[in-house]
Amino acid sequence: MDFQLTEEQRAIRDMVHDFAENEIVPRAGEIDRTDEHPADLFRKMGENGLMGVPFPEQYGGAGADTLSQALAIEEVSRASGSVGLTYAAHLSLGCAPLYMFGADAQKKKWLVPLAKGEALGALALTEAKGGSDLAGSVTTTALLKGDEWIINGSKMYVTSGAVARSTIALCITDKGKGHRGLSMIIIPHDAPGLVVGKVEEKMGLHGSLTTQVFFEDCRVPKENLLGPEGAGFRQAMMTLDGGRIGIGAMALGLGRAALEASIKYAQERTAFGSPIANFQAIQWMIADSTMELEAARLLVARAAVLKDRQQPFSTEAAMAKLYASEAADRACWKAIQVHGGAGYLRDFPVERFYRDNRLTLIGEGTNEILRMVIARNVLRANA
Ligand SMILES: Cc1cc2nc3c(=O)[nH]c(=O)nc-3n(C[C@H](O)[C@H](O)[C@H](O)COP(=O)(O)OP(=O)(O)OC[C@H]3O[C@@H](n4cnc5c(N)ncnc54)[C@H](O)[C@@H]3O)c2cc1C
Repeated sequence: MDFQLTEEQRAIRDMVHDFAENEIVPRAGEIDRTDEHPADLFRKMGENGLMGVPFPEQYGGAGADTLSQALAIEEVSRASGSVGLTYAAHLSLGCAPLYMFGADAQKKKWLVPLAKGEALGALALTEAKGGSDLAGSVTTTALLKGDEWIINGSKMYVTSGAVARSTIALCITDKGKGHRGLSMIIIPHDAPGLVVGKVEEKMGLHGSLTTQVFFEDCRVPKENLLGPEGAGFRQAMMTLDGGRIGIGAMALGLGRAALEASIKYAQERTAFGSPIANFQAIQWMIADSTMELEAARLLVARAAVLKDRQQPFSTEAAMAKLYASEAADRACWKAIQVHGGAGYLRDFPVERFYRDNRLTLIGEGTNEILRMVIARNVLRANA
């Protein structure tokens, strides 16, 4: 077992750290206050090779590995949860299915511009009936008529749906076949009949655009089917397995931001004639957050390494996302406590970290669903 990052992984982490410190941190508070979608930041991230980190160079990426991607997401999310979620969703949801399931021509047409950072990508799985029971809740239909799919229905909570160049939608292509009748279809941003709904008002992650998307006799070419017809449910599950490593990394970034702010504040703030860092109650909060985030980092790294070795990683990705999101939730909670009243004010960033991180316990599989996934896999392995 090797706990050292490679030279390339360290270089990517350090480069993203410096970029995030200089370009994202100074704007993070304003992005949260104004709900600004910082399109220019994503363009700059593209210029720095960050928008396609794990994809091969021939498809516009940086040719790095999943652990490098996790390190990059952690660094970006430490600077801003809004930018972090947009970034994680772009890589894991908007790009990864194109890379994993696309034909070469589809990769060239749809993945290359995304990986180069010329535009963002999105994935639309969730519908109003519910996200956890994906197979049972999809009602959006795609009917093949001549050379076109005619798509009708609507999707909810689509990250970057309002600005994406392409949105991959999970649709029913054969009603009689249950989850085997679901397929993924690439919807171009200018497809006739694609209507982007309102941008949702959220508790946090204000700079990440979450939208409804409507398909009203939306027409897309036949060749936009991603992979074989009927493979959509399996593709969605595989995509979410990878995405959970990204959400775990996002939580790590936010938890780390909260911990770093706590350490700084505890050393500066005095009470009863002493820095509050001298009080055991404060020290224990800092110790627990440090330890839990470190454990979360190992889980995220393990899932990423297994994925790169093409070994099963579904259970490990679920554990990484679940544990990291809850460890970060506790670290953010403690950071507010360490800050006392200041922690409750918008003048300090810790309340933003707390709000932003809350999504990581819900998105890409709620933690309740992930506990089911872990238990099911463990019980099956021991049957
Ligand atoms: C900011 C944001 C961004 C998002 N981005 C995207 C995106 O880009 N693309 C996309 O497709 N979706 C996206 N989502 C949707 C997200 O994946 C879903 O919200 C999530 O999967 C949960 O689905 P739901 O909201 O319908 O909750 P529900 O499925 O209705 O669940 C409600 C509650 O019931 C629990 N529950 C449900 N079933 C069970 C069960 N069998 N056992 C125990 N408990 C259960 C859940 O854990 C939860 O606590 C996003 C959501 C948010 C908030």
